[in-house]
Order: sequence, then C-alpha cells, then structure tokens
Amino acid sequence: MLPPFKKAIPLLERIENSGYEAYFVGGSVRDSLLGREISDVDIATSALPEELKTIFPQTADIGIEHGTILVIYKGIPYEITTFRAESEYSDFRRPDKVEFIRSLTEDLKRRDFTMNAIAMDRAGGLIDPFNGQEAIRTKQIVTVGEAAERFGEDALRMMRAVRFVSQLGFTIETNTLSALSTMPHLLEKIAVERKLAEFEKLLEGPSRTEALSILVQTSLYKFLPGLKGSGTSLHRMIHCSLSTLSRVEMWTLLVYQLHLNEQESGRFLRDWKLPVKQIKEVLKTLHWFRFRLHNQWTAMDVYRAGKEVMLSAEKLIQSSLGIEPVLNADLVKLFECLPIKNRTELDMTGTDLLSWFNRKPGPWVKDYLQLIEEKVIKGELVNERANIREWLVNCNRKLEKD
Ligand code: ATP
Ligand code: MG
Repeated sequence: MLPPFKKAIPLLERIENSGYEAYFVGGSVRDSLLGREISDVDIATSALPEELKTIFPQTADIGIEHGTILVIYKGIPYEITTFRAESEYSDFRRPDKVEFIRSLTEDLKRRDFTMNAIAMDRAGGLIDPFNGQEAIRTKQIVTVGEAAERFGEDALRMMRAVRFVSQLGFTIETNTLSALSTMPHLLEKIAVERKLAEFEKLLEGPSRTEALSILVQTSLYKFLPGLKGSGTSLHRMIHCSLSTLSRVEMWTLLVYQLHLNEQESGRFLRDWKLPVKQIKEVLKTLHWFRFRLHNQWTAMDVYRAGKEVMLSAEKLIQSSLGIEPVLNADLVKLFECLPIKNRTELDMTGTDLLSWFNRKPGPWVKDYLQLIEEKVIKGELVNERANIREWLVNCNRKLEKD
C-alpha cells in the first residue's frame, strides 16, 4: 500500500470503530493500481456527515449538501464523502437529489467509469463490482452501466472520458465511444467552469494529441466555448508536436491555430473563464510567437519578451512545424548576457531624473527611462549611475547648442 493510504488508515479505523464502513475510493485507488503517483486520497463511508462530525472534532463543511466534509488529520486534509445515490437528472448536469445510503456497491454504481468505481479497504482488499481492474488492465474507459444513460445524467462525464484518454493513454471502449458521438450536444448544458477544469487536464496530459483527435472525431469540440467551427484549426493543432508544451503554451497554440486577432483571442480566453493572469500570459506568449514567425531575436526583443516567454515562443515555432522542441542554448545565452534583465536593475531611477534636471514630473520621465534602458540593452551605455548622468548631461548640452 502506498504511503498516502497508509497515513490515512487510522481514519478508516476510527470510522469503523464507531460502527460504520469506510473505504478508499476514486482516482487514488485507480492510480495506485496503475502504478502512478498519488497525492490526495478520497474516503467514502456509510456514516452520515453529522455522524462523522461526532467522530472527528476538527472538520470543515466543504460540500455538505453532497455529503462531503473535510477532516484534518495530522496536518493533512481528507475529503470524506457519505455513500450516496443520485437521482433525477432533469437538466443533463448534476443530480437534482442526493440521497445518502448505507451501501458501498450502490455508491460505486453512481460513479462515472469502472476504473473509478473501485474501493479499497484498510487492509488493501479491493471491492470491484464493475470489473474496474479488468478495464485498467486493458486500458479501457468504460462507463458504469449504459453509456448513453450515464452521459444523459451528467454530460460532463463525456469530457471526463476524453481527459482520461489524455492523462492515462487509455482508449474509450466501443459502446462508450459511440454514445459520445451521438450526444455531444448535451455538453452545451454544462457550466464553463466544469468544462474548463477537464479541458485543462486534457491539454496537459501526455496523450493530448489522441484526446484532441477524439474531441474532433466525436464533435464534442463544437460544444466547447469558441470552438464551434474550428474543426480544421484543431486538426492543425493535432499535427503539431505537443508533448512538451506547458498549459500556457497549449492555449497559445490553440488560439494561434484559430487565427484570432488579439482582441478576439482575449475574448476567446475570457469566454473560457481563464484567470486574468493566465490570459495575460497567453496573449504575451502569442504576441512573441507571432513576432518570431517573421523575425529573429535581437537583444532588445529578448529583453522585452523575458526569458520564459522567449523560450515558449521558440518552442512553439518548432512545435508548430511538427518538430520536438529542444532548448535553444544560444538564446538562453543571449538573455543571460543582457546587461540588465528588467528596469529595476537600471542603476538609476525616475526620481534621479527629476533631481538631475530639476524638472517637474511628466511623461518625459518615462521617455527618458525608456531611452536609457534601450541604450543600456544595446550596449551603447554602461549601466552605471555616474556614467548615465554624464551621458544625459552631454545630450542635453548638445540639444541646447543646437
Ligand atoms: P483526478 O486524479 O484527476 O482527481 P479522479 O478520478 O479522482 O481524477 P475527481 O474529479 O477527483 O476525479 O473525482 C473523484 C471520483 O468521483 C471519481 O474517481 C469518480 O469515481 C467520481 N466522479 C467524479 N466526477 C463524477 C461524475 N461527473 N460522475 C460520476 N462520478 C464522478
Ligand atoms: Mg481526485
């Protein structure tokens, strides 16, 4: 048993000693069977939330309406969820009613895929009523029960299937795949935030190329924000070398393949509800990627882009040619050799300018700083306070003479 499970055994024992059942469930059990690293372990129990609260004094209600509470044990937070059955899905997303139950098998039955419907007891014994282990052995994503019915209950499961393709390198079992192809439109009902969470995992998974192909093949992409008419763009994306790209680089390549201008790109990313900081990163990377398609780097460009963005733009160039990106050591050297890496490293400030020239603040300060910055980067001016001052005074004298 992996250490994260071992550490949590006392929790299961405490629940059992109070007369209830408790098991490890979900992604951590699946991943441990796959030999993958696991981080957090989820626990399912027959105890009701209120009963759990009497067993553990330190809890937080994180999703109590769904039966989930957070228990902190030895500094580690654990999500413990009461066995539940879900019923009456009237709008293709999340159940209308959650019913707490005492049967583990019934709880496993409401889970999405057989590989995610395996429970493990504290001795490491597996409870696997839907042959999840077989699915893991044959690397198959299979719904628990009839696929069309399960996707009809919660359409997000379709996105989850495709993101598991990307993360695990599994294939989608025939019936499950054909259900995906017949009901992609149900995805329209799902909140963007939920789609985003799955799509980002998809973009980051090692089998992202295969997963994107399935999005196209099943038409699921048509029901994702801003991707309705973008089958050809996604095809182009699939032909890029995607394996080493970061999340921001993947978004950048996607936006680039969609042929959107800067304003449209911003709107596309906002429609996906990406955080503002990430949108800025993508737009900056896109700018320098497009720049690099038609230009070579100068010291000034490298300075303006910054090391990370420069290397991302360079990776994207290679990736979009279908070449496995390699680190461009010459560019790294060019960046490392810059006299300053950002404006704060200038050996003087705007305040110095005000006192040297005895002038009121105004736009001229920014213009002067920019000029000095550029001269320093180009190696035409040594970044040394006295030296910069002397150069400015000389310039001024010259101007006055003229
Ligand atoms: P990850 O390793 O990415 O966290 P996971 O399988 O643990 O993958 P979670 O979203 O953390 O995914 O969900 C935990 C478990 O809850 C799943 O393994 C699955 O059993 C169940 N589950 C999650 N989402 C759904 C859903 N939409 N429908 C049915 N069961 C679900
Ligand atoms: Mg999980």
